[in-house]
Order: sequence, then structure tokens, then C-alpha cells
Amino acid sequence: MPFSEKIKEDAMVACGRHCCICHKFCGNKMEVHHIVPQKDGGEDSFENAIPLCFDCHAEVGAYNTSHPKGVKFSKNELKRHRDNWYKCVQERNINNETKQPVKLLREKGFENTPLTRITSGIQLLNALSGSCGAQYNYEEPKTREEAFIISEFQKEMEYLLDADSLIEESERVMLGFDLNDFITQMDEKGFWLFVGKENQMLTGGVIKTPECFPILHIYILKKENIQSKNN
Ligand SMILES: [Zn+2]
Repeated sequence: MPFSEKIKEDAMVACGRHCCICHKFCGNKMEVHHIVPQKDGGEDSFENAIPLCFDCHAEVGAYNTSHPKGVKFSKNELKRHRDNWYKCVQERNINNETKQPVKLLREKGFENTPLTRITSGIQLLNALSGSCGAQYNYEEPKTREEAFIISEFQKEMEYLLDADSLIEESERVMLGFDLNDFITQMDEKGFWLFVGKENQMLTGGVIKTPECFPILHIYILKKENIQSKNN
């Protein structure tokens, strides 16, 4: 028996239409896999279901016990991947409503960089870590207060980018905590924050030959515009 429509629906909501193994946003291109196979008595239950992308589904199914190559996905491991990801989706408020419309606002050439909505300071610090620079894309502020919040946030980001490699683990806790304030302030003014990392070819200045550097794209967008552009 296949999974019922209701179970598939619950699983799609729980994973936010992202693969539970590679965490890629998949839209329609998803499959619900039986963790315990049906031939071994696996049930068509939510507990036995894991949403996967086509690639990961093929990987999970491809292991050949008579020709062992690589490390097999165990049932327990699959369950843990799934439970971790469901928890992550819930906590980080990841869902396709926030994902799809933002794509429309991307500048040319960056349409395919996956964006993550940032809702906590630690999440932002993690995204920032290892980036060589940031590019901002923000909606024009309507009041001086809004402009001030965005500008202060950018200043903080510039500081953190410069200091990235010097930040001690113990400092991160406080920095992340302080960043929460910026995120909350922006949220109160109706701004949502999204980030996506992209390798970019840079040249000029001290860089003699073009080199690739990870750049963090930071989007500060008005909530209501995200929704209206979705319609
Ligand atoms: Zn996958």
C-alpha cells in the first residue's frame, strides 16, 4: 500500500518540502520513502515516512548488500535525519510560503542561490561564518526610523564580517544574542531577513588573478511585499 494522501500531506508540511537528508528545497520533486520497507512489514504511517528528493531517494535505495560500497543508510539513521529536519523546519519557520516569492526578487544571475529566512542571531552568525563579504538587497525604508534600523544592522554585519575569524566561541553566544535584537526590531517594522551564500569571481585591488570567494547575499524585505508578490 502507498501512503495515504493525509500522511503525505502531513509529511510535506513537516519537512517544508525540503529533502530530509540534503535539505534542498524540492517543490514538486519529492518522494515519500518507507523507512522500514513494505516487504519487511513497514507500515504506511507518518512514523515510517521520510520525505526525500529524487537524488537522495535513489541513494538510499541504491545500496546493494551483495556489492557493498560506501556506507549504508540505516533505518535508525533515516529516522534521526527526518526528526532533526522536522524540528529544524518548525523552529526556523522554514516553509515554501517564504521561499517561493523571494525568488522573484532576486537580481539576475543569483536566482538559484538557495535563500534561508533568518529568525535568530546564531543562525545569522553561522551563515556569516566563512563569508568574505556581504551584498545587500533591501527595500527602501519609508521612515527615518526604518532607515536607521537597517543602517545599524548593516554596520553590525560589516563589523562581524571583518571580525569573523577573530571571534571566539565564547563570544558567539553573546553576539548571537545581540543580533536577535536587530532581527526583532526589523521584524517589528515588518522587515524579514533572508540570506544565501554564493561563490563569486572577484578581481582587482590586491587580487591579481580572478578568484572565487564566498559572498553572503543578505535580503531585507518587507513582509507584505513578499506575500503580495506571491499572489
Ligand atoms: Zn536530498
